[in-house]
Amino acid sequence: MTMEAEAEMLRQDILSKLAYQVGARAERASPRDWFLAATLATRDRIVDRWRTSADEVVAQGHKQVCYLSMEFLIGRLLSDALGNMGLTEPMRLALDGLGVDLEAVFAQEPDAALGNGGLGRLAACFMESMASIGIPATGYGIRYENGLFRQLIQDGRQLEVPEDWLSLGNPWEFERSSLTYDIGFGGTVTQDDGGRMVWHPGEVVRAIAYDTPVVGWRGHWVNTLRLWSARATDPLHLDAFNSGDHIGAQISRVKAEAISRVLYPGDESPAGQELRLRQEYFFASASLQDLIRRHLRLHGDLLTLPEKFSVQLNDTHPAIGVAELMRLLVDVHGMDWDVAWEISRATFSYTNHTLMPEALESWAVPMMERMLPRNMQIIYLINARHLEQARAGGAGDALLSAVSLIDEQHGRRVRMGHLAFVGSHKINGVSALHTALMKTTVFAELDRVCPGRITNKTNGITFRRWLMRANAPLTKLIVDTIGPQVLDDTDRLADLAAYARDAAFQEAFAAQRRTAKEALAKMVRERTGVVLDPAALFDVQIKRIHEYKRQLLNILHTVALYNSMRAQPTGNWVPRAKIFAGKAAPSYHQAKLIIRLANDVAKVINHDPTVRNLLRVAFIPNYNVTAAESIIPAADLSEQISTAGLEASGTGNMKLALNGALTIGTLDGANIEISERVGLENIFIFGLKASEAGPLRRDGYDARAALAASDELRGVLDAIASGVFSPEEPDRYRGLVEGLLAHDNFLVTADFDSYVASQRQVAQRWGRPAEWWRSAVLNTANVGWFSSDRTIREYADEIWDLPVR
Ligand SMILES: *Cc1c(COP(=O)(O)O)cnc(C)c1O
Repeated sequence: MTMEAEAEMLRQDILSKLAYQVGARAERASPRDWFLAATLATRDRIVDRWRTSADEVVAQGHKQVCYLSMEFLIGRLLSDALGNMGLTEPMRLALDGLGVDLEAVFAQEPDAALGNGGLGRLAACFMESMASIGIPATGYGIRYENGLFRQLIQDGRQLEVPEDWLSLGNPWEFERSSLTYDIGFGGTVTQDDGGRMVWHPGEVVRAIAYDTPVVGWRGHWVNTLRLWSARATDPLHLDAFNSGDHIGAQISRVKAEAISRVLYPGDESPAGQELRLRQEYFFASASLQDLIRRHLRLHGDLLTLPEKFSVQLNDTHPAIGVAELMRLLVDVHGMDWDVAWEISRATFSYTNHTLMPEALESWAVPMMERMLPRNMQIIYLINARHLEQARAGGAGDALLSAVSLIDEQHGRRVRMGHLAFVGSHKINGVSALHTALMKTTVFAELDRVCPGRITNKTNGITFRRWLMRANAPLTKLIVDTIGPQVLDDTDRLADLAAYARDAAFQEAFAAQRRTAKEALAKMVRERTGVVLDPAALFDVQIKRIHEYKRQLLNILHTVALYNSMRAQPTGNWVPRAKIFAGKAAPSYHQAKLIIRLANDVAKVINHDPTVRNLLRVAFIPNYNVTAAESIIPAADLSEQISTAGLEASGTGNMKLALNGALTIGTLDGANIEISERVGLENIFIFGLKASEAGPLRRDGYDARAALAASDELRGVLDAIASGVFSPEEPDRYRGLVEGLLAHDNFLVTADFDSYVASQRQVAQRWGRPAEWWRSAVLNTANVGWFSSDRTIREYADEIWDLPVR
């Protein structure tokens, strides 16, 4: 079909959707109406392929993946779907003919922020890659009515307001009102005459499926993202309502529906913790009940479950599923325990995302016993057999208590990471370093008792979204230079290396960056009022705000630059724009203070005429996937400066390098593998290594030595502590600085000098454009390996035992 014919058909469909589904007239349709109509027309085309994909799974009996994740940070879908279907240009043409601008239609779509950060975005990239490769897969999660909060910056401070992405309807999803499962909570457990355990839940909540199609590259294959919404089984007590208790009559509805209300409700309070565990069990149970139904329908016999399905646990949030699958197999389907255990372990595998002790999930035993009495019994049974085996293998008491699913030291808690480990046949880390550290830290003892299960799968990103869609001009340049095969085979990016020294190519590469920087400067001005010079070096740190990610170190460098520039305003400075974006968890006070400091520093620097043409600082509010898509193509320098050993992988580092930003970073997470591929001459590595930082943090690091050795650091900390950036409240950051000197857990002061020296090299390189752009091109050329297609192929091969067609 010609593009014009395709566009004409789309145009007819859009008009028909507009009239009959949206109920609007073309001459009075709002941009939102056009978005709905265009999306529905696109969705129809995807649905046809969805059906053929599903038919093929049935006909061929393909093995399938269930990806269980508390988060799917999918962002906007329309441009991705059109791109993968090859319909972007026909759609542009179709809308042009109606006097509607495609980009304006894209901008109408809410950003589905059903996740927090890297872990959720990984799930979204994996879903896209599985569809692109043609691996049959279902992503299972929760359909939060309010995803991650929307961040406002007011007087320099983070303010959280609910993000109601569903308020105007969601044209992508299909409500499967007949696809429901009952999820029990509380109650009692008895034994029936045949000796089987029977759970009598005290409360039953219904899970309803909402399906969103996930279309792969070139539209060959379509998978399903199935998100569960919670409904009460007894939504209204009519007697109570009629007798005037209008609120009390709906309490059970409110309580049930709270489960799918918000992503990560605060878990400081016992009620908050209870809700979190309810969410986890709710979606794990619904997903596994669905898995069993699907398997029985297709294959009839639960003994073949692991031959036909693999279940990947994305972190420990769905780990309760290990006990739940055992409950379903043994109690509900009458399977023998040992057989069920073998099947369960062959089905599950688990991805670990963090080594930080405070981030390892555990639940208090009394709460588990109250909320999930039968699951708790099953955890005890799993633990008893697990410890028995370990003892038979020669484990002593210390080792047994370390590998036990129950932590007895902190008031009896269930270790969810241990449960996931013991219940899985493979456990993977997300970068080479992280996997190595897993074996020597969190899972050292479990690895001794259950050897051979740990494997590495370095994260990846989908190039369709993070290069082809986020940076269409660069993609066009690449395709014009090395040919269109690169669109289907990311390894071909390596062909760009031949052009790294080519002056004309460098110029074209730099021109593309310049255009993206102009667009970002415009966005920053509109959203923050800060004026950035597109000629400046755009120095970018975008990620969740966390102490270990060390935005503070970057702020200290900003202040150091400011001090030096003020001391020598006529010096030979490289103009810089320091760009920050990221959200802090609502209860994470230190992270919020860091946001405030960044904004306070920005305010003073941006108003100081001495550095007007040299230094600007912008904090872009409400970092999300959509913001990332416009910031990344405009980045010259990518800040990946976590305390070594603490960033499991990072994926922001990959997105930025792919788009040709040079990385300044520590030897942490996937930075190490990036540096191996782009070459040490094309990346700025500084600071302590994990092998040095680990012992230093453990043994107690003393910041005063670093302070004594560095005039520059002293000048920076003095300025911040004395209120240079908070003149209206000079003591605002005194505590922060004193805290840094008393217990610098993340080694900010230890790495400061090395970081500043590395930043000087960055400035020098920027001053030699031919070298800078050569390095930039080589970054893009050498990171093809970080495609999530590669990651997924490794999972398929080595974890899921699933042939890639
Ligand atoms: C990629 C991505 C992340 C992860 O970034 P890191 O730098 O790896 O922490 C977080 N949030 C969004 C919106 C992303 O796109």
